[in-house]
Amino acid sequence: MKQILDRYTKEQVKKASQVNAIFFDVDGVLTDGKIIYDDSGREIKEFNVKDGLIISYLKKAGIIVGAISGRESEAVSKRCAELNLDFCHQAILDKGSVCEKLMTHYKLKSKQVAFIGDDINDLPVFKKVGFTICPADAMFYLHNRVDLVTFTKGGKGVLREVADLVLAARGWLKL
Ligand SMILES: [Mg+2]
Repeated sequence: MKQILDRYTKEQVKKASQVNAIFFDVDGVLTDGKIIYDDSGREIKEFNVKDGLIISYLKKAGIIVGAISGRESEAVSKRCAELNLDFCHQAILDKGSVCEKLMTHYKLKSKQVAFIGDDINDLPVFKKVGFTICPADAMFYLHNRVDLVTFTKGGKGVLREVADLVLAARGWLKL
């Protein structure tokens, strides 16, 4: 029977076992990157229930969870509130410095932080954290710059895959 950790390298499991916080981009990570506009110009986005469900498990395990997004939309604010994230920072131009401030605020060392991003504006964050991750369908040049390319594509449960890995590596999920 295949277990969660069997899918990953020893190095990836080791990095996951040190994680106390998971920060992530929204468009292309929690969503597939599509932005739909309705007639009034309001943005419509599609989120995956698989990502939402695991957040309560992460929080129970004491893991800090939050979004750092370059864009801003009501749909994201609503989803972040619904998921009870520790923070949801939107319209962030310099994600690297926001990440650094968050690490100081929560007293996190770089090895304790995982970040999931899918595009070039996420590269500055990758320089700050110990466990760098991109979805399977991220821009190709991110693939060889991260510690883990998830099996999952953006919007299909990328956060869920990472959360499962972290919870399993820390011994809180035995599947
Ligand atoms: Mg993105």
